[in-house]
Amino acid sequence: MADSYSSSRNGDISPNGLGNGSSPSLVPTQSTAPLSSVIRKKLMGYVGFANLPNQVHRKSVRKGFQFTAMVVGESGLGKSTLINTLFNTPLYPPKEPLPPSAERPKTVAIESIGADIEENGVRLHLTVVDTPGFGDFVNNDESWKPIVENIESRFDSYLEQENRVNRMKIVDNRVHACLYFIQPTGHSLKQIDVEFMRRLHTKVNLIPVIAKADTMTDEEIAEFKERILADIAHNNIHIFQAPTYDNEDEETIAEAEEIAGKIPFAVVGSDRTVNTPDGRKVRGRAYPWGVVEVDNEDHCDFVKLRQMLVRTYMEELREYTNDVLYENWRTEKLLSMGVAQDSTVFKEINPAARLQEERVMHEAKLAKMEAEMKMVFQQKVQEKESKLKQSEEELYARHKEMKDALEKQRADLEEKKKRIETGRPLTPEKNATGRRKGFLRT
Ligand code: GDP
Repeated sequence: MADSYSSSRNGDISPNGLGNGSSPSLVPTQSTAPLSSVIRKKLMGYVGFANLPNQVHRKSVRKGFQFTAMVVGESGLGKSTLINTLFNTPLYPPKEPLPPSAERPKTVAIESIGADIEENGVRLHLTVVDTPGFGDFVNNDESWKPIVENIESRFDSYLEQENRVNRMKIVDNRVHACLYFIQPTGHSLKQIDVEFMRRLHTKVNLIPVIAKADTMTDEEIAEFKERILADIAHNNIHIFQAPTYDNEDEETIAEAEEIAGKIPFAVVGSDRTVNTPDGRKVRGRAYPWGVVEVDNEDHCDFVKLRQMLVRTYMEELREYTNDVLYENWRTEKLLSMGVAQDSTVFKEINPAARLQEERVMHEAKLAKMEAEMKMVFQQKVQEKESKLKQSEEELYARHKEMKDALEKQRADLEEKKKRIETGRPLTPEKNATGRRKGFLRT
């Protein structure tokens, strides 16, 4: 690679950067300096990595896609109709009317329906998780509980599969999106709505929808949306937002903004086709005063909801579920099980703090070295001093010895001088001795 970079720096690449577009090749150029150690190469053709997205596409199409959507809301709000409308498939059979409240089960049930659907050769395995009974009881205080448990048990199952020795076939049953159906009352969110969203927003991508929007006027819908958004913000509820990226084109950004501007989506569902007064056959609901068209953006937000859930952001929903919602849950779960993580390993390094730390350590090292040097110096000085003292004493002793000797010599000479002056013999002792000897002899 470095070689091809060097060639491009040197202007050897073909004008369009792709050469003749034939097979990929890296051709060495005629080197003008054969002794040079740098072998320059020229990118002549199309290498092919621009085809990577197509490879991913082919692989994904072969494998198919898997998506799980959950629908939550009171009975009769049009959940099954909307799912059938969204995926253009009679996923849900027509429902039996609800039994009288005394005969209904006392808890929220969780039911899932799976279907393989195919569009233009792309397969999607869709699972819809329904929550019949939600909000249908006299006391709905804990309606959210079985739903949270269900979502968590799906996370559990994924975690268990991840921890297996063989992770080749992980089945992803996690809920990727939750359509929360709000009753078209026109007031504001009910306690049950707030409670549900508060409990669920950290575990699932929440997409709020206003059910049966054809029962309200445009003005009512606009006001209702404002109140709902205010309630959501007031309760710090996080709902799924269409993401935008820095390098995206204006059209995509405008599309994301349009989608975001419609939340909560005011939807109308219908799996039937009806005739419009101008003779068209459309999916919609016919009323004596006219036809509400499901796929007409002037009539409702169904198209924008489908765009968010299916056409544009299905992959984002899956990704956010995996990277954020599941990851947070997994961390909490493992920590609660006592699997601690050494966070210092991941500690962000602050360069200023790091420099300060290094400076302090360096200063401490210098101070230690200085103290050691001082000690050695003092020791040496002491040794020198004691040596000097010793030699001074020796010198003094020698000096004294020499002085004494000189003194003695001087005294002897003085004595001799006196003797000479007084005429006495220089060696009186000898003479005296001789005399004495002689005296004794005589
Ligand atoms: P679910 O219990 O929430 O699944 O509701 P269903 O989908 O079974 O719908 C209940 C009733 O509402 C059915 O009679 C549907 O035809 C009707 N319905 C569904 N969607 C709409 C809608 O958008 N507007 C109106 N006006 N009625 C709807």
